[in-house]
Amino acid sequence: MSESYQGYVDLRSDTVTRPTSAMREAMYQAEVGDDVYGEDPTVNQLEEYAAHLLGKEASLFVPSGTMANQIAILTHTQRGDEVFIHRDNHIYYYEGGAAAMWSQATFTQLAGPEGLMSPEDLEASIRPKNIHHPRPRLLSLENTHNRAGGAALSRERLRPLIEVARRHQLQVHLDGARIANAAIALGVPIAELTEDVDSVSMCLSKGLGAPVGSVIAGSKAYIDQARVYRKWLGGGMRQAGILAAAGIYALDHHIERLADDHRRALTLAQALIDMGYRVDMPSVPTNMVMVDLDVPVDGVISALKTAGILLGAMGPRRLRLVTHLDVDDEGIQRTIDAFAHLTPAKG
Ligand SMILES: *Cc1c(COP(=O)(O)O)cnc(C)c1O
Repeated sequence: MSESYQGYVDLRSDTVTRPTSAMREAMYQAEVGDDVYGEDPTVNQLEEYAAHLLGKEASLFVPSGTMANQIAILTHTQRGDEVFIHRDNHIYYYEGGAAAMWSQATFTQLAGPEGLMSPEDLEASIRPKNIHHPRPRLLSLENTHNRAGGAALSRERLRPLIEVARRHQLQVHLDGARIANAAIALGVPIAELTEDVDSVSMCLSKGLGAPVGSVIAGSKAYIDQARVYRKWLGGGMRQAGILAAAGIYALDHHIERLADDHRRALTLAQALIDMGYRVDMPSVPTNMVMVDLDVPVDGVISALKTAGILLGAMGPRRLRLVTHLDVDDEGIQRTIDAFAHLTPAKG
């Protein structure tokens, strides 16, 4: 049996959040039906709510963020079409090469700070329409950017890339697994960050605290097609209102409070900086703290685990600490104290 980690301060990811009792109560009370028949009122309500929040005509409830992204690409592309993506994006880095299996699109990866390629690099990588080249089809962006330390990217920062995409008739997908974190950190409505893209995915099961689920939003025609692909991939669920109720609860109650997670991440980052750690902060940080060690991370991870603190690794010498719904001020203080007792400091 694996460990349950009850009582630990779990900073490995914001995916570890457990539904609160109020959320469980909402799930218990949910009215349900068969969602593959379109008859689950709670799923329908979530899909309308999420579409509104994301500023799109329609949305689709899916089991995971990975499925949301894969369906989104499948819906935008034909086999062989070219997707332009930053090499650190989740879709390219963490989804098991799934696009090679489902959409069979070609990925052209670009690099750049904070999870953004430069508009010049994007422009230069788009080849002219010609029988020798794949059809350039999709620009895929991510906000907040996970591997870039949870960087929140403003509409102004994304705009030059989207302008290049539009000039070349590319569609634009946004992996907005943590788009609510971005909106809260930037102090703007979520819809402002999604207005310029054709499709967006958002996780309900990370900082928002639902146990399962993501949504994809876009035009009505786009979501109609995405619904077909969800069925193909086995993501058509039946009395899914039980899960959608958690999502609705999360959207109602757990968006504004992301500011607390961001504040706690800053407190943690500042304390680690004061102890002499190298902390890589993005220009607009959210709920993540990336710490670069001079030694492999294993020693620090196991020492902190002994103290009841769980940390993640983002590379051989890079720690990732993520704040979320289930980490309070006391948990942050315990973490700071545990780092202070490490000898020698900096691992
Ligand atoms: C977690 C995450 C996903 C995928 O979500 P799962 O529900 O774990 O499949 C997609 N994109 C980003 C940026 C993520 O952080």
